[in-house]
Amino acid sequence: MRLVCLLVVLLSAINLEAQQSDSAFIRKIFNEALSEGHAYEDLRSLCKDVGARLTGSAEAAMAVKWGRHKMEGYGFDSVYLQDITVPHWERGTTEAGWIKHPDGKLLKVHLLALGGSVGTDGLIEGEVVEFKHIDSLKNSSREEVEGKIVFLNQPMDEQMINTFRAYGACYPIRGHGASEAAVFGAKAVIIRSLGLPLDHHPHTGSMQYKEGVDKIPAAALSTLDAEQLSSLIKEEGTLRFAIEMDCRNYPDQQSHNVIGEMRGQESQEKFISFGGHLDSWDTGEGAHDDGAGIVHCLEALRILKELGYQPRHTLRLVFFMNEENGNMGGKSYAQIAHEKGEQHIAALESDRGGFTPRGFSCDGNETHQAMNERFAPLFKPYLLHKFEEGYGGVDISPLKDYYPDIALFGFLPDSQRYFDFHHAPSDVFENVNKRELELGAASMAAMIYLVDQRME
Ligand SMILES: [Zn+2]
Repeated sequence: MRLVCLLVVLLSAINLEAQQSDSAFIRKIFNEALSEGHAYEDLRSLCKDVGARLTGSAEAAMAVKWGRHKMEGYGFDSVYLQDITVPHWERGTTEAGWIKHPDGKLLKVHLLALGGSVGTDGLIEGEVVEFKHIDSLKNSSREEVEGKIVFLNQPMDEQMINTFRAYGACYPIRGHGASEAAVFGAKAVIIRSLGLPLDHHPHTGSMQYKEGVDKIPAAALSTLDAEQLSSLIKEEGTLRFAIEMDCRNYPDQQSHNVIGEMRGQESQEKFISFGGHLDSWDTGEGAHDDGAGIVHCLEALRILKELGYQPRHTLRLVFFMNEENGNMGGKSYAQIAHEKGEQHIAALESDRGGFTPRGFSCDGNETHQAMNERFAPLFKPYLLHKFEEGYGGVDISPLKDYYPDIALFGFLPDSQRYFDFHHAPSDVFENVNKRELELGAASMAAMIYLVDQRME
């Protein structure tokens, strides 16, 4: 009995010591990020020296060089490029739309073609038919829609506290609106931008055509233009809309994921991957989406190296290419890892912007969930509190296809302002707060450290 008691005391002492050394190390991580951090300058450089970087563009190719150069500059154990094949779509040079008032007045709108859309092949015009929900379009008829321009005016639900949920609920109008409208013979589709504020920034994003259905042009109007169009339809009964876009798809191209590693000291053959996506939409500078995630992860590995941390497992930093319109970076990364017979035990992603950290979601088994929940007290001094089950991220999720037992973690910053900027011209460096960005980088570094320490 006495022996058992002694053992319990001893074990809890060891546990306490581990907790204390974890707390001390995490404190060092935050100190480094907040007083000697590189994240903000690295983000400025990515946004201003490279710029918007849609897959297939010259800027995306420069971003690959930028990423490799950065990783080499920080002296990681190995830095290399991984060849991947990616789609290539370009916006073109003509992109304009007008509401045609019955009295002859023209109202020019703020509009962006959706990524992947075909062009209009000259100026096209048609009567507008409005739907407030994707399901109302699906339940309509050819008589109602044929030859018209379908206007999908489904707003994000402002009562939802988790803005990603509100975004997810509206996603079908952007992703599938064109094909749903084409089924009934529409000539084009215009959607209300997936954004919460009422402003003049249209938000682009990817869309997909259903096989066997006509491909019709698709664009997003700013939320204010959508409001105006809707109220004019209410006043006038019918309205016409004119649109011209010369965006188009090109043949697939070769591109790269950029990879940097710190080799493990105990189990070098086991990998913990973490990253964000290097590509962005072609409007704005991809500052929050996902420049922030790129520099969070870059800075995390820099900090761990700077503090002399000796990882147990091999830590692999990945700048994924093509998350926005194909996810070929994430899919190829997982497939190549599998083909090489690599062992992947965990992966982390930051792709929800550079805002104040709130916690981490976990997509894994019960043991992983319990481990994630136990991290909460260590993050309490930094005001992170959400450690719960949830999605890991688009880039890392294909790993699950090959490694069903892998633990995936998603960085969760505050989501209230993310959809002000997401895929919009306003997603620029100036809209990222230095301190919030640094706290995000420190949180990633601390989480990578804890996962490396706790997982076998
Ligand atoms: Zn993103």
